[in-house]
Amino acid sequence: MIIFSGPSGVGKGTICQELFKYKELNLAYSVSMTTREKRQGEVNGVNYFFVDLPTFEAVIKNDELLEYADFVGNYYGTPKSYCFDKINVGKNVLLEIEVQGATQVLEKITDAVSIFLIPPSLEELENRIRGRKSESEEILQERLEKAADELPLQNNYNYVVVNNTVEQAVTEIKAILRQEIAKRS
Ligand code: 5GP
Repeated sequence: MIIFSGPSGVGKGTICQELFKYKELNLAYSVSMTTREKRQGEVNGVNYFFVDLPTFEAVIKNDELLEYADFVGNYYGTPKSYCFDKINVGKNVLLEIEVQGATQVLEKITDAVSIFLIPPSLEELENRIRGRKSESEEILQERLEKAADELPLQNNYNYVVVNNTVEQAVTEIKAILRQEIAKRS
């Protein structure tokens, strides 16, 4: 299991998409469940399982999530069955999740590989979130404040990668994953 975390807007999604092009990494994406509204272009069952609040609460109650978190007013969580089904067929499952959830997984799955992606600076992070144009000013400010609180948590991870450019970050993460795969095979 690979825990890939970092502040919202740092570029986790873009880097994930690139990593999936390298078939030798044998990656499977852990599709999360969320109560957030679908953004333009997102597909249910591919980007997320989009559900309403009562459904998410029922899933929590039934203990069907490996971890979950309330992130800026919406729930996000990792369905156990989806994730472990992929592991059971031999895939390296990548969880792209925020830090509260990542902390829960770090405690439960002690042999997971954990990678924390950080922006070159908080100013650069703000530019990136603004560029995405998907959040209101209020949500954007909340996400930035959260990012400032989250950065010190990088110390809990096996690896910290700075997202200067997508190409550089992908190259570094590929090297980390290749090394971890070699160690475990
Ligand atoms: P977004 O709304 O931008 O898609 O995601 C917001 C944050 O939630 C991002 O940092 C993303 O990595 C995180 N996230 C996505 N899925 C999960 C999940 O299953 N669990 C947790 N804890 N965070 C998630």
